[in-house]
Amino acid sequence: GASTVSILYVLKEFIQIYKQNHDYNLTKLSPPEIGVEGLVGNTPMVLIKSLSKITGNNVYAKLEYLNPGGSSKDRVALAIIKDKELSHELNEGDCIYEGTSGSTGISIGTVANSLGYKSEIHLPDDTSPDKLILFETLGVNLIKVKPASIVDPNQYVNSAKNAALTNNGIFADQFENEVNWDVHYKTTGPEIYQQLKGKVDYFIAGCGTGGTIAGVSKYLKEKLHDKFISILADPQGSGFYNRIKYGVMYTNEEREGSRRRHQVDTIIEGIGLNRITKNFSIGESYIDDSIKVYDDEAIKMARFLNVNDGFFIGSSSAINAVAVLKLCKENPTIKNKNIVLAFCDSGTRHLNKFWKEALKVSKDITIESIYS
Ligand code: PMP
Repeated sequence: GASTVSILYVLKEFIQIYKQNHDYNLTKLSPPEIGVEGLVGNTPMVLIKSLSKITGNNVYAKLEYLNPGGSSKDRVALAIIKDKELSHELNEGDCIYEGTSGSTGISIGTVANSLGYKSEIHLPDDTSPDKLILFETLGVNLIKVKPASIVDPNQYVNSAKNAALTNNGIFADQFENEVNWDVHYKTTGPEIYQQLKGKVDYFIAGCGTGGTIAGVSKYLKEKLHDKFISILADPQGSGFYNRIKYGVMYTNEEREGSRRRHQVDTIIEGIGLNRITKNFSIGESYIDDSIKVYDDEAIKMARFLNVNDGFFIGSSSAINAVAVLKLCKENPTIKNKNIVLAFCDSGTRHLNKFWKEALKVSKDITIESIYS
């Protein structure tokens, strides 16, 4: 009776811990405590019925917004913190510093709270109010700086780095820290591969730091070689499109403006840059093509997928959904393929900026009015 139950209980616990250790061994992380951080990763994948039907393919969304801190950046935050723990740079109560326009900071705040660290986030003062409220609820020390170019010492990444130096703290450094792509190589990539039983034909993602597209593309190319195609969806004003297409990092400024935030007000947050980060450079040789997407297309697509499928997505997910539509319209021979889109964060984080615009779009929006 009681002893059988307790043996079963121990067995169940063991399997649970083994499973998590096993998953995290992939990332060289120490075993997670059973706290919020134990929920990071292993996100579901779901069919986007409307886009599958319209394109004649199986279009899947990898639901990164179901991570406990609401985005794929939970993986990066946890991996960076665990890496610093392993190298004994981080001790109980220490503060982690990061420069981020949102998601990464929210993930660092979430994981830091769960593991007993403090966090200080530097961000541009035009970041969406929804994210600012999230930071407040997490008790993160928030430093708002004027939007500036990366060469300016007061730019948010530089400002976070300087604060870490001055206070002898840890600078997470998501753009240059290679733990970023590595965690996607060791978790996100293998998860996608397993979820589709090895049949992954396309992966489409945007590029902020480059960690997601680098890690996932490298893993899937190594597994599937030329059978797998990686596509970078790039928002207006970002230089990655030209970099992938023509090998040069420049924007079509006359048509698109520049992504530098102090020059152009952009609706899409979290992706698009005019510089090559370490994490992007790792991924570059594994990326096959790039598709340019404009703000208004993403806004309409977000509304379309909400009304037709029930997805409530953030702006960078919408970019990827427009890219799959363009890919399949321009290449009608692409049929019956498995195409995976990164759905990085949800609409709740974009209520006052992106979704304010998306709500102006009629609920009767047709796919042809997005791209035809
Ligand atoms: N979507 C959102 C909402 C993001 O915040 C980011 C990262 N800043 C990305 C996509 C891109 O991910 P990555 O940094 O791995 O390129």
